[in-house]
Amino acid sequence: MTVLKSCHSMRIREERSCFKCDKLFSELFRCKYDEKGNWIFLCKTCLDQSKLNNLFYQYGGTWKSKKR
Ligand SMILES: [Zn+2]
Repeated sequence: MTVLKSCHSMRIREERSCFKCDKLFSELFRCKYDEKGNWIFLCKTCLDQSKLNNLFYQYGGTWKSKKR
């Protein structure tokens, strides 16, 4: 499936950095990560790692940047 974008915007889309690896992503996963119970945002890779053997892990939904 090919999608041609006629309007190629130079604007930087809103992105958030992953709490662990600190890279920018346009899609992150909200979760609780430690005993403090603070909500943080993780990328898919860090999320998969974090939920292994993690008693405090709780999934809180997906965050996506708005495409304009
Ligand atoms: Zn990450």
